[in-house]
Amino acid sequence: MLSLAQLVDVLAQRFGFRRVPSCIGCGACLEACAVYVPGGDFVGAAAINRVHLKNQHPSGAMEKRKRVRSLMGNGGVADCGKAQVCVEVCPKQIPLTESISKVSRDATKELFWGWLAD
Ligand code: SF4
Repeated sequence: MLSLAQLVDVLAQRFGFRRVPSCIGCGACLEACAVYVPGGDFVGAAAINRVHLKNQHPSGAMEKRKRVRSLMGNGGVADCGKAQVCVEVCPKQIPLTESISKVSRDATKELFWGWLAD
């Protein structure tokens, strides 16, 4: 009999989606980040990754633009220094840089074309 994790892996392989491990909130990515400062403006990789995951979910997609816009200001996704140390230290091997680049792309699209959807 398959465990739940094995079942998810089988389904992920069958339907062509990638299983993304959950963030455990350890803060290693924030600790390693050269831009993140406690109490500072930059939200950090874990928060941006969370936005990306919520944007992927069918129900979360309804608020995608609002979420992306919240990361377009000071301390948002553009503040990432792209040093990529977050992804190296994450104990869950979450593809943080992938999430950051996807949210960054969404923010650029929103910046240029968001007014068309308003
Ligand atoms: S290092 Fe990984 S598991 Fe830890 S808070 Fe950051 S994203 Fe979450």
